[in-house]
Amino acid sequence: MQSEFRAGERLVTLPEKTDEGVYFIGRIHTPWRDRKDCPRQGSLDGPECRIEIFAPWDAALQGLDDFDHLEILYWLDRSRRDLVLQNPHGDGQAFHGTFALRSPQRPNPIGTSKVRLVRIDGASLVVRGLDCLDGTPLIDIKPDRCEFSPKAAPK
Ligand code: SAM
Repeated sequence: MQSEFRAGERLVTLPEKTDEGVYFIGRIHTPWRDRKDCPRQGSLDGPECRIEIFAPWDAALQGLDDFDHLEILYWLDRSRRDLVLQNPHGDGQAFHGTFALRSPQRPNPIGTSKVRLVRIDGASLVVRGLDCLDGTPLIDIKPDRCEFSPKAAPK
């Protein structure tokens, strides 16, 4: 289900092949089935959502409970990838380049949210702060950069 585009928005022809692949390492379960109900940006006070981690990647959760906040990266799988000029208000007036927006429509439809880690239940994380549709594929999890100190020796 790809989204529509608005009058005057500019589309390009996508290259035939992508340059690299990604692994979907899990799936995000949220209360939102429809874009119109989904927040534009997550809030740390938003509803609890569950991030399911697929095997074998669940082994990579070790140590995550040291952090209160995480950065979640996800693949906005129901997005157009060919829009370069967008009219978010749909007024036919104000057009913005895709890279000047946080719109889900982008060549690599990667969404990011800072979330609060509520708890870890086996291979699932319960978090608050997401803004994606139910079933959105997960591509990465990182500790929030403010809480993280590098484990490697300084350069
Ligand atoms: N917080 C992320 C960011 O800034 O990178 C995403 C922001 S984007 C504006 C959030 C919107 O993307 C939602 O309100 C919804 O309309 C849309 N969206 C959510 N999940 C999606 C999905 N799986 N595929 C396509 N669009 C999605």
